Amino acid sequence: MRATLSEQQELLRQTTREFAQRELEPNAARVDDEERFPRQQFDGLAKLGLLGLTMPEAEGGAGGGYSELAVVIEEIAAACGSTSTVFVTHVSLGSACIARYGNADQRRRWLPALASGGKIAAFALSEPGSGSDALELQTTAIRDGGEYVLNGSKIFITNGEVADVFVVFVNSHRDQGHRGINAIVVERGAPGFSVAHMGGKMGMRGSATSELVFQDCRVPAANRLSDEGRGYSVALSILSTSRVSIAAQCIGLARGAYEAGVAYSTQRRTFGALLSEHQAIQFMLADMATEIDAARLLTHRAAWLVDKGLPHVKETAMAKLFASEVANRVAHKALQIHGGSGYFRPSKVERVYRDQRVTEIYEGTSEIQRLIIARSILKDGAT
Ligand SMILES: Cc1cc2nc3c(=O)[nH]c(=O)nc-3n(C[C@H](O)[C@H](O)[C@H](O)COP(=O)(O)OP(=O)(O)OC[C@H]3O[C@@H](n4cnc5c(N)ncnc54)[C@H](O)[C@@H]3O)c2cc1C
Repeated sequence: MRATLSEQQELLRQTTREFAQRELEPNAARVDDEERFPRQQFDGLAKLGLLGLTMPEAEGGAGGGYSELAVVIEEIAAACGSTSTVFVTHVSLGSACIARYGNADQRRRWLPALASGGKIAAFALSEPGSGSDALELQTTAIRDGGEYVLNGSKIFITNGEVADVFVVFVNSHRDQGHRGINAIVVERGAPGFSVAHMGGKMGMRGSATSELVFQDCRVPAANRLSDEGRGYSVALSILSTSRVSIAAQCIGLARGAYEAGVAYSTQRRTFGALLSEHQAIQFMLADMATEIDAARLLTHRAAWLVDKGLPHVKETAMAKLFASEVANRVAHKALQIHGGSGYFRPSKVERVYRDQRVTEIYEGTSEIQRLIIARSILKDGAT
C-alpha cells in the first residue's frame, strides 16, 4: 500500500478539486439554505466522468477503484456536503449494487445511464421499524408468476425524490430470516410506487431524502439482483465497501472546516495578536491536522484492501467510525475558533457542523461500527 497518491490519482484529485472549488463551493450555502437537490452540480460531476468512476468500462464506467473514489469524494465533500451525499449514494450504494450483483442484462440495462448521469440511483434499506437491525425489515415482495408484488414503506432514502432506479431490500419469506431477503430494482413510475419528500433535516439539506411507499407495486422478477434470498448479503457487502466512501466524505468535511479555521485564525486579532499566535489555537489546529491525516490513512488502507479483494470488513468499519468522529471533533474546534461569527449563517463552519453529524448515523451508526469491529476482533483475534 502506498502512503502517497499515484500520479494518476494526484491528477484526479487536482481535476476534482478545481471543479469543486469552481462549481460546488460557491453554491453550497444556497443548496443548504434552499434544501434543493444540486442538479447542476450532479450534472457537472457526470460531465467529468466521475459518476462512472468505479463502474466497469464495458458499461460506460472508468473501471477505477475505491482508492480513486476516496480521493474524489474527499474533494467534493470539502466543498459541498450535500453534493457529496448525493454522489456517494448514487455511486457507492445504488449503482454499486447493480455493478456488483447485476447479471449481464441488468448491467447493460441500467449502468450506462447511471454512469453518464442520465439516471440517478438510490438505495432503500431503512424502514420506520428497522434501521440498525435491518434484518427486521417488513416490506414484502411476494412472487406472483413472473413478477414480485411489493407492499410496505422505506424511510430516510437519499436521492429518493430524484432517483430513477431504486435498489429496494424486501422480505420475500418472513420465516427464513436473512435468507428471505431480496434486493429488487424498482424504477420510478412503477405502478403502486410513490415517493414523499422528507424535509427539515439538520444538515445535508440538499440530499433529497424521501419516504418510499409500495402498495401492490408490481415489478418484473427479472429485476431481482443476485439469487433468490441473497439480498441481505448484497446489503452487507455494499455497505461494507461504501463505508470507505463515508470515511472519505468525513475527511472532506473535516478538511473544509479545518481550512476555514486556519484561514480565520490568520486574520482575526484578539489581545493584540492574531488568533493563530495564541498557543491554545495552535494546539487546536495541530490536533485537527493530525486527526485528519490519521483518518485519511485509515481510509486509504481500507480502500486499498477493497481494491485488492482482501478481507476488509473490520478496516472499513474502523475507517468510517474514526473518520466520522474526527469530522465531529474538527467541526467543533473550527467553529470554536470562529467564535460568534461561526454560529451565524452563512458560515461554512456552521454548515459543516450540521452536515457532519449524520456521518455518525447513516450507513451504520458508530455503535454498529463498534459492534462490527468487536465481532471481528473476537472472531479473528486481536491483531
Ligand atoms: C440524512 C439521512 C440519510 C439516510 N439515507 C439512507 C439511504 O439512502 N438509504 C437507507 O436505507 N437508509 C438511509 N438512512 C437511514 C440510516 O441508515 C439509519 O438512520 C441508520 O442505519 C440508523 O437506523 P435508525 O435511524 O433506525 O436508528 P436505530 O437503529 O433505531 O438506532 C437508534 C440508536 O440506538 C443505537 N443502537 C441500535 N442498536 C444498537 C445495539 N445493538 N447496540 C448499541 N446501540 C444500538 C444506534 O446506534 C442509535 O444510536 C439515512 C438516514 C439519514 C438521517
